[in-house]
Amino acid sequence: MKAKTKTAATQPALLVDSEVVRLIRQHARSSGKTEVCGVLIGQDRDQRIEVSACIEGQNADEAGAHVTFTQDTWEHIYAVKDKKYPSERIVGWYHSHPGFGIFLSDHDTFIHRNFFSSPGQVAWVFDPHSDEEGCFGWVGGRIERLTRISVVDRRGGEPAEAKPEPVSGDAEDPPVTLRNVEEERESPPVRIRRVSANQSAGPQDSSLEELVFKVFFSLSLLALGFALSYFLFPRIELVPVALDPITGQLIDPRTGQVIAVPRDPNANSAVGSPAGNAGANAGGTAQHPDPAKSAPSPDPGGKKGDNGQPK
Ligand SMILES: [Zn+2]
Repeated sequence: MKAKTKTAATQPALLVDSEVVRLIRQHARSSGKTEVCGVLIGQDRDQRIEVSACIEGQNADEAGAHVTFTQDTWEHIYAVKDKKYPSERIVGWYHSHPGFGIFLSDHDTFIHRNFFSSPGQVAWVFDPHSDEEGCFGWVGGRIERLTRISVVDRRGGEPAEAKPEPVSGDAEDPPVTLRNVEEERESPPVRIRRVSANQSAGPQDSSLEELVFKVFFSLSLLALGFALSYFLFPRIELVPVALDPITGQLIDPRTGQVIAVPRDPNANSAVGSPAGNAGANAGGTAQHPDPAKSAPSPDPGGKKGDNGQPK
């Protein structure tokens, strides 16, 4: 007895079949403005609540803002339960809050206290507008929102089969939907769900793709521009040279060859001096053995000749 009250003060672990989650969402989306409700079917033992199925609340009074379990609703629920889930228990209920979030109103709390007062019974709430969902349960006599909710895929563990994916145009009416319509005798709300899912997912994907494309496009443009300018525009290369202090010649320090001979200052000053002549002659002699510089040699040579004539 003491141990039982102690365990009840902690939150139960809730395990929900993924198919139940899907059916609740489907039911809630079938009426986007009014609330829908139903009950949860499963087992509850040792602070562990397992939800394996659900029954829609037919004929529930959904006129106002809140759902109500009428006498007709319960008759329908028990008829389905006795037929399809005779050995299971009613482990809670669900209802939708179209557009106003996840909480339990005073009316919801009233329903939970009067119809689902067992510690193993929970209240699942789903908002089909925001796709938010949550579950509330008994913790030490109080109703709390549960923190531990596990969604279990009953077909988990099956080997992945190498089936071909259908072409996108054929994906409108999957066979799963038809099976559920048979079972639940409900008009399929799948179309609403798919449209809204496409609308919400479509623009985000395309804007992301657009952004990635723009970034890559600008980067490739930038790279192309750099490549073009590299090949089209002249390059200036800096080459280290050594200046001979005696002759004034520019010498390549790597090969030791003379690159350029200094211009004869006598060509402009027209003042003849032996040093100037000697420098010019030295330039001439140094220049001749270099075959690469044979082409510009006539120019200083001519200057030298001009220098010689006025002298
Ligand atoms: Zn409510």
